[in-house]
Amino acid sequence: MDFQELRDMMVKTQLISRGIRDKRLLDAMKKVPRHLFLDESMQHKAYDDMALAIGEGQTISQPYMVAVMTELLEIEGEEKVLEIGTGSGYQAAILAELSKEVYTVERVQELSDRAAARLNALGYKNIHFRVGDGTAGWPEEAPFNRILITAGTPKIPEPLLEQLSEKGIIIAPVGDRFSQQIVKIVKSKGKFSESFHTPCVFVPLIGEYGWK
Ligand code: SAH
Repeated sequence: MDFQELRDMMVKTQLISRGIRDKRLLDAMKKVPRHLFLDESMQHKAYDDMALAIGEGQTISQPYMVAVMTELLEIEGEEKVLEIGTGSGYQAAILAELSKEVYTVERVQELSDRAAARLNALGYKNIHFRVGDGTAGWPEEAPFNRILITAGTPKIPEPLLEQLSEKGIIIAPVGDRFSQQIVKIVKSKGKFSESFHTPCVFVPLIGEYGWK
């Protein structure tokens, strides 16, 4: 299978056609080998227009959802980014292509270890891993210019609002257990403003400031 061809096709038919415009993001999604973030038995589906199972009851997000959330983050290159929910590590790779440093937290040790092994093998040096409850953020490394939550949450966890820098942006799927909407939070002069975007379905964010 020619994976580069499948990736180019994915970008054209799933992303550009639906209005994704950020050139650096489109280039990153053409570059990152999404199939390598899946078990071998699933690799032939890697560029399909859907979320896929990655084990431990978790999923790698649909390419379009990765693109929507990442575009909303408005990353320019020098940012320090926090991701909650490492999962397969695919989203972390996209963030690492676009920003300076990525800090990613995962509650399932197995998933974090597998993601770290893949991302190291691919040569990423600017991704830092932590196993634990990401709803508490990563206080030792705060503040962050951008925060991306890749699991569904009833509300934005308070510690993450506190760990966001001035002019920072948080993107998260907020809603009930079975359906959410992408929410964008922008911090300006210490105040938070909120806007609402695409409806979506994510696995739950489980932790002290998420779902119990
Ligand atoms: N970004 C991932 C997809 C994540 S799916 C990718 O690109 O593949 C959501 C992930 O969030 C799951 O792996 C789940 O285990 C994790 N998760 C759920 N609650 C969490 C929490 N409180 N802290 C950290 N990770 C959490």
